[in-house]
Amino acid sequence: MKVLVLNCGSSSLKADILDENGVRLGSLRAERLGSDDARYRLDGAVTELPGADHGAVLAHAMAGLVGDHQLDAVGHRVVHGGEAFSAPTRLDAQVEAAIEELIPLAPLHNPANLAGIRAAREFLPAIPHVAVFDTAFHATLPHRAQAYAIDHDVASAHGVRRYGFHGTSHAFVSRAAAEFLDEDPRELRVITCHLGNGASACAVEYGRSVETTMGMTPLEGLVMGTRCGDLDPGVVIALARELGLDEVDRMLNRSSGLAGLSGVGNDLRDIEERASKGDERCRMALHVLTHRLRKHIGALAAVMGGVDVLVFTAGIGENSALVRSRACQRMEFLGARLDRDANRDAKVDRATPVIEISEPRSRVKILVVATDEELEIARQACTVGLGQDQIAGGLPSIPIGISARHIHLTQESVEALFGPGHQLTPRNPLSQPGQFACEERLTVVGPKRRIEGVRILGPVRPANQIEVSRTDEFFLGVDAPVRNSGDVKNTPGVTLIGPAGQVTLSEGLICARRHIHMTPEDAAVFGVEDKDVVDVAIHSEGRDLVFGDVLVRVKASYALEMHIDTDEANAAEIKRGASGKMIDATGRVGRLVRRKAWR
Ligand code: ADP
Repeated sequence: MKVLVLNCGSSSLKADILDENGVRLGSLRAERLGSDDARYRLDGAVTELPGADHGAVLAHAMAGLVGDHQLDAVGHRVVHGGEAFSAPTRLDAQVEAAIEELIPLAPLHNPANLAGIRAAREFLPAIPHVAVFDTAFHATLPHRAQAYAIDHDVASAHGVRRYGFHGTSHAFVSRAAAEFLDEDPRELRVITCHLGNGASACAVEYGRSVETTMGMTPLEGLVMGTRCGDLDPGVVIALARELGLDEVDRMLNRSSGLAGLSGVGNDLRDIEERASKGDERCRMALHVLTHRLRKHIGALAAVMGGVDVLVFTAGIGENSALVRSRACQRMEFLGARLDRDANRDAKVDRATPVIEISEPRSRVKILVVATDEELEIARQACTVGLGQDQIAGGLPSIPIGISARHIHLTQESVEALFGPGHQLTPRNPLSQPGQFACEERLTVVGPKRRIEGVRILGPVRPANQIEVSRTDEFFLGVDAPVRNSGDVKNTPGVTLIGPAGQVTLSEGLICARRHIHMTPEDAAVFGVEDKDVVDVAIHSEGRDLVFGDVLVRVKASYALEMHIDTDEANAAEIKRGASGKMIDATGRVGRLVRRKAWR
């Protein structure tokens, strides 16, 4: 397997060819693109190319870079995937257009990413190109971590929410840390600190990003090379009045952070050197950087109710013993004890990518991990490049069952609605053994409207439950929460009308959470467990869709089938007899899938 990974900045271009072990088979670096000094370096040799842009460099250098290598895919780093992209995505004209639409959210990054994509697709039209988004790993942030506390309507209208960045690095190093510790990532709470020129920290709870320090743009959070990180929005307003918006934009992005604090630039090595000689501004820069970092580590630990592993990565995280030791000062209350000698001596590289720097008695493991974003992009590009069937590496397809709105009743309700002693009349068996659709139907009455002829499913249950789609609940005029079957506590009630009477329920209306029934044997084949949450890709005619948040339910009496409602089926134009493939989009489950596809 050979993948070309392309990472385009506004005036730079990095391209690497990697094999499945992460070995670099070729490397191209271009800088100062668009200027008279534009140049590129290919395998050591520098070529001046005045005025060249991304396309011109690729045109000039691509043949030399690729040589005889048979590439399987091209992975493109794309900084902002917005709401639209939560997984690596095969590029076509529509995906390009969607990335273009996201430019207002990442004006510095997405245009450069797109320039690289367009040029590379032109030069390598025959192989799959895949966009891998910095934001995708954070698609699992809960709503409370996504939201800014501003006017909800304004936020919705302008896509204002927290997205998070550096996702490929946070995903890569959190997994590498778990592998190093020989632990299952699904059982660890990890805080990953990616400290490069850009910096962000992430709470990776049981394999999923649940909080991160960057927000709608890569400006929020930690102190960075030239970016300010957290700032009272009042400062922006006050400065904008004085200096104008463009100047404030430039200042906060390009001359703040370490550069702004220290006055000597954004390279931490220089700042450490000068601080050690007594330079007050450089000392202050270090203090602000490490204080902010410690504050955020504490906050991320609080979000997860504790932490098991603390990871430092990227240029500063991998190299600065000083920053690591200051960040870990007085962390004993969290159970984190730094081994000062191990910290000072730690030097990660490709041969030794992970080093432990905590004391043996430290409950929290503190690790330095060498990140490899290119390898992560190559892996992700590779899985998508292989196509859906190969992603699943021969795993069975999962039949899809579409659940129309239906009702489960207690025996007591059956008798109240159909008369004393009434027994439900089976009409036809359902896919799950012992379950059946009944002849009986009811009218469901909501505050706004009613729906006639809703089918009852048998046998009777200990609690009444009415399962409707989002469209139905809107029609009825009631908000039904997304719940697992059987979990009806504190849900809204409705009135049911039958031929012999009516029943007004105090609870029971839900929008069923999508789920897969499977046996323990199936679970072993898929490499999942009961209550896992997985992604399932549906291949349909022109409306392919990946369903996230699919709950796995394992029981010996179940038959393998994924259940979705009519709204969900319509969204992907799923017909009867359709099936889906479990895929690995979050890195949390289905590692089996990735391993099969990659190795
Ligand atoms: P980018 O976000 O551009 O990929 P890097 O991950 O390469 O950034 O990190 C760049 C930062 O790492 C710079 O601030 C640099 O000073 C810092 N850095 C690199 N090596 C060292 C070192 N030995 N000691 C301290 N800081 C270092």
